[in-house]
Amino acid sequence: MSPRKLSVVVTAGPTYEHVDPVRFLGNESSGRMGFEIARAAQAAGHRVTLVAGPVHQETPEGVKRVDVVSARDMLAAVEGTLDHADALFMAAAVADWRPRRKLRGKWRKKDDGSDVAILELTRNPDILATVAKKLRRRAERRCLIVGFALETGSGIARARSKMQRKGTDYIVLNDETALGGDRTSVTVLGREGDELRLENRTKKSVARSLVGLLRDLK
Ligand code: C5P
Repeated sequence: MSPRKLSVVVTAGPTYEHVDPVRFLGNESSGRMGFEIARAAQAAGHRVTLVAGPVHQETPEGVKRVDVVSARDMLAAVEGTLDHADALFMAAAVADWRPRRKLRGKWRKKDDGSDVAILELTRNPDILATVAKKLRRRAERRCLIVGFALETGSGIARARSKMQRKGTDYIVLNDETALGGDRTSVTVLGREGDELRLENRTKKSVARSLVGLLRDLK
């Protein structure tokens, strides 16, 4: 257990980007990893805020949960925690794109016989990069920032450049076996070039190891 009680912020789950009131673009993220991190951080004695996209997960005891839908909601919720945050674990699978306009009514089929429809998308904010930049400017105290990357094949080089680009202290590299299941294999990459491989572990066990990174803040 870390010697001091830290404010830990975790993002989890997918975001939903609505096309109209009943349709959205989403993804398969279960939120499981983020919820396990929140649970492990709370069990280690920290104050935890869990910003969750639409998921079917029980709120871990003692954790403050903020439910959000879209990437923009998630950004606002995370920004609301920054004054106090000592550590961020950004496990959410945030949608990179959203429909340029959300229709007020249902998107109706046209009767012109066309088999093609075009949906215009616009880029979502990168929550991690945005808040990391703000936190780097915060002089009073350091915030540990942990990002996640899901890459197919050997993604170490790509994950390392993501760490540079987004300004994180660590990147947790997952492959597609992480999706949905209870077990996962991850590589934790650090800024100093360090690399820790956690092979075929439960997400609960990976979460405990990740919470162990808080020792950097001692
Ligand atoms: O660029 P990519 O989606 O692979 O980056 C993954 C990391 O960045 C994750 O930690 C994810 O939570 C975060 N992210 C974010 N906002 C986005 C896209 C990704 O915070 N719009």
